[in-house]
Amino acid sequence: MATDERLFVVLLGAPGAGKGTQAERLSDNLGIPQVSTGDLFRENLKRETELGLLAKQYMESGELVPDEVTVGMVRERLSRPDAAKGAILDGFPRTIAQAEALGELLDDMGDELDVVPYIKVPEDVLLSRLAGRWTCRKCGAMYHELYSPPQEPGVCDKCGGELYQRPDDTPETQKHRIGVYFEQTAPLIGYYRDKGLLVEVDGRPGIEEIQAELLDIINEQ
Ligand code: AMP
Repeated sequence: MATDERLFVVLLGAPGAGKGTQAERLSDNLGIPQVSTGDLFRENLKRETELGLLAKQYMESGELVPDEVTVGMVRERLSRPDAAKGAILDGFPRTIAQAEALGELLDDMGDELDVVPYIKVPEDVLLSRLAGRWTCRKCGAMYHELYSPPQEPGVCDKCGGELYQRPDDTPETQKHRIGVYFEQTAPLIGYYRDKGLLVEVDGRPGIEEIQAELLDIINEQ
């Protein structure tokens, strides 16, 4: 861990690679918040804020929300007290411009990124994972009907909320989101590799095995 005891981790990987699932567990295990830009946009959408209404059209079609909007939202999120000891960033950055903005933002805070685990999963597996994904309407917890089903179908184990399939998890939008990922987000793999921050993790084994590997990687920092 960094000497300043603040820990900033970016989880990289395609939609369906398991970033959200792993980020949620890392947050519990390390005691720092999961900052998921997708979750933040969904919360804003639910509350019908200006930001949420702006993001809606992009999210529904699987496009990226403009960088300046996303970066502003992350800046505000990282300034909250619960992020004083760091954060697990999930779904951000998604473009080189966002990665550069994150570098500047952390620099302004007198800090820097510690490590960027890249969860690698073949494309056919991504599609099957996205197809069976269910999300809690109340707390945002994620389940998969095959790989991590809830105890009772349609009901969240954590808060009893109703589970639903995200509207951007339709087959066409899924394919489009994976296309957007390869075009706009995959270049971040080389970007962080060049900075010596990237560590590849096989995203095919079980959830607990991947979590253990991620914890080892982070604890080595
Ligand atoms: P996710 O939950 O991470 O799959 O994100 C769902 C949707 O939110 C994406 O398809 C984008 O429309 C939007 N979104 C999430 N994170 C970002 C980001 N870092 N930059 C731009 N758009 C984002």
